[in-house]
Amino acid sequence: MFRATVLTLFPEMFPGPLGLSLSGDALARGLWSCEAQNIRAHGLGRHRAVDDTPAGGGAGMVLRADVLAAALDATAAPDDMRPRLLMSPRGAPLTQQRVRALAAGPGAIIVCGRFEGVDERIIAARALEEVSIGDYVLSGGEMAALTLLDACVRLLPGVMGKQESGQDESFENGLLEYPHYTRPREFEGRAIPDVLLSGDHGKIADWRRAEAEKLTRARRPDLLRKS
Ligand code: SAM
Repeated sequence: MFRATVLTLFPEMFPGPLGLSLSGDALARGLWSCEAQNIRAHGLGRHRAVDDTPAGGGAGMVLRADVLAAALDATAAPDDMRPRLLMSPRGAPLTQQRVRALAAGPGAIIVCGRFEGVDERIIAARALEEVSIGDYVLSGGEMAALTLLDACVRLLPGVMGKQESGQDESFENGLLEYPHYTRPREFEGRAIPDVLLSGDHGKIADWRRAEAEKLTRARRPDLLRKS
């Protein structure tokens, strides 16, 4: 089973939206588990402090390495083989390829940063893999962790209705997905392309491939260069 453990200052954010729809149904069926651990349980002193001012000065606060280490060590036994991820705008951009690899594994331990981020020393000391969900800054790692988990969970065996619904999707073959249509046949003067109503599966596959390539060339030529 894919086991997600999230270290966060806001455990009530989990499973959050992942408790609904496809992922919520999969959670109820025991296809994955989601455990949120409160970092503050390992905070220091009467006020359970988890952060402190940045060394060298500057704005904001930094999550302490000793507090995060205690939280991680209490969560992950030494023989826990799950990857340890730190959600971070500085991390490697999350890709469908990385999502597939994570979904094929035992799950993940995910650290959610807050404030200005985490003390750099925890990253090396606990071999955390920094993962970014995009070139923008969120106020915390929780939404990023939810995004990563959503992308993983839908790929778990038995979660999606039809197995092939994951195969043709954007990014799976280095291409964005082709356009979709459904009823009505005409909408505000715009018709469904004739080929899709022809019943000729070969022609439909060729059209979809050509449309996927055209879209990718126009919007994400970088994907074509990579494949
Ligand atoms: N000072 C940091 C910087 O400039 O790189 C930003 C810190 S951000 C306000 C607080 C936390 O949100 C981060 O530690 C990280 O866990 C999370 N976060 C923000 N943007 C993210 C992104 N694009 N991907 C993943 N996590 C992100």
